[in-house]
Amino acid sequence: MGSINIKEVSKLFGETRAVDRADIQIKEGEFFTLLGPSGCGKTTLLRMLAGFYRQEEGDIYFDEKLVNDLPAHKRNIGMVFQNYAIFPHMTVFDNVAYGLKARKVGKKQLTERVEEALEMVELSHLKDRQPSQLSGGQQQRVALARAVVIHPGLLLMDEPLSNLDAKLRVKMRDDIRNLQKKLNITTIYVTHDQEEALAVSDRIAVLDSGKIQQIGKPHDIYLHPKNKFVANFIGTTNFLDGTVSGKTLRVGGAAYPIELNNNYEGDVLYSIRPEQINILGDNDHSERALSGVVTDASFLGESVVYRVGLENGDEVRVHEHSIRYHELREIKDYVRIDLNPKDAVVFNASGEEV
Ligand code: ATP
Repeated sequence: MGSINIKEVSKLFGETRAVDRADIQIKEGEFFTLLGPSGCGKTTLLRMLAGFYRQEEGDIYFDEKLVNDLPAHKRNIGMVFQNYAIFPHMTVFDNVAYGLKARKVGKKQLTERVEEALEMVELSHLKDRQPSQLSGGQQQRVALARAVVIHPGLLLMDEPLSNLDAKLRVKMRDDIRNLQKKLNITTIYVTHDQEEALAVSDRIAVLDSGKIQQIGKPHDIYLHPKNKFVANFIGTTNFLDGTVSGKTLRVGGAAYPIELNNNYEGDVLYSIRPEQINILGDNDHSERALSGVVTDASFLGESVVYRVGLENGDEVRVHEHSIRYHELREIKDYVRIDLNPKDAVVFNASGEEV
């Protein structure tokens, strides 16, 4: 099994449409992430793929095979959850061996496969320990080994890193990504953490209130969000009110030439990332420079984050990378900034891209 086809799938809990007509095609070997805020329907969609829930509408195919009524244990899926879900009374080895024993794999082959899986997650040296003698990260590695040892056609992961501390999360997410690529298992990963999703995924589906808002590669979703929700949820952005008439955009007290799809005119919301705004040096000239005053400055090492109050009352967040510093600015300094409309995304009054 490799590709997954989710066709117009909905799950209802009473009046709530937890998943609303989800339509997703996932390719063989792809690392695909369901991303969205709490309650958006990520886990519900994952549970339908696992066979724990039956959808009220739509169809799910694994390769070409319709699996709507295929029970969970016949779907050949490996699963990893947030709370590890490993057996506390079994050793690491026996935990990993569990799925193979249930499949009646012979002793020799079982030992080989468990050892191979433990090696992949760098736990061979701890195979005789009980789970209570392991750290959170090690327990999650046991869960990962247990999921891949059965050679699943599909790997489902639901917030697998949520219980780990920040540094370990970054290490584990890199390890998961590397293992997934090495084994080439089609993987569907659930997270509410946009940075994690950007780092590990081949493609991401952003969900809100049960509905898919956008599907795309990480850099596409970041640079070309389709609506206000996605722009706001992925990364940080500045929203500025503006107007478009003819081919002119007025925003932040300046006018810029702009060409929009369908020659849209009217009120717009202009979204520009903090790193897409430049603070100009004293010798930099720009006809469209805006003047402002620094209202806040945070030095973060690799970058400095400023808040700049513009003359028209708008405030923008600006990230300046260390290697581009002209100088460190302080609160109350006057600065000139450059907005580049080419880098920005413009939404209409309903928050959709125009
Ligand atoms: P989280 O990140 O908090 O786990 P999620 O995106 O995974 O959230 P789901 O758990 O899929 O969201 O829930 C989607 C919606 O469906 C929510 O409104 C939730 O309250 C509702 N829901 C989920 N499971 C049930 C259930 N068994 N019965 C009734 N409503 C449910």
